[in-house]
Amino acid sequence: MDKTLGNITQENQNYLSDQNTNSTTSSLFPDLEEAGEIVSSVEKNESSQSASSSSNQSSSQAQQSDSSKQSETSKKDTGSSTGEKPLFMLPVTGDVIKEYSNNELVKSETLGDWRTHDGVDIKGKEGTQVKAAANGTVSEVTEDAMWGMMVVIDHGGNMQSIYCNLNKAVNVKKGDKVELGTIIGSIGNTALAEVALQPHLHFAMKENGKYVDPLKCMDKVS
Ligand SMILES: [Zn+2]
Repeated sequence: MDKTLGNITQENQNYLSDQNTNSTTSSLFPDLEEAGEIVSSVEKNESSQSASSSSNQSSSQAQQSDSSKQSETSKKDTGSSTGEKPLFMLPVTGDVIKEYSNNELVKSETLGDWRTHDGVDIKGKEGTQVKAAANGTVSEVTEDAMWGMMVVIDHGGNMQSIYCNLNKAVNVKKGDKVELGTIIGSIGNTALAEVALQPHLHFAMKENGKYVDPLKCMDKVS
């Protein structure tokens, strides 16, 4: 009897001390959560009391028509709030023969010097179709002295995709709306900065005006 009592009290003590350590480490958290719940429930009550049933109906109708305007692709996978980045896919399929250098200097085979490589080079024969990486609007079609025929697409959410070394005969012009997969042109041999490489697309992406690794923006691989 004494033994079992002793065990029980010891267990209780362990239990209590466990609780103590738990409560000291996490005591702040539940309090904050509770506070948040209280605030949000108050807001809900206020809005449901003040809003009449007719205005509720009209606001939900407006939401429906808004969402139906959105393109299918942007709705497909996310289904959540607006303003997030759209679905991205690589513009051509092929091996990456030169990776994004992430601001590191890498040797340029063509120019013989060391410089950053602000995109990826995806191998592909001249004439290979190049597709828009996501829904968006063509914001630039230019012939750059270094990068050759170049298309820039604005995707919203401060995301841009940039396609260089295209054939001069591009399929889009500034202002055109494109969808993921729209053929914008084909691989050419126009980028003097990279002519020493085998035929490829130089593909770059910018987020908030800064180059980012295009492969990390893609949704096909994690
Ligand atoms: Zn390149």
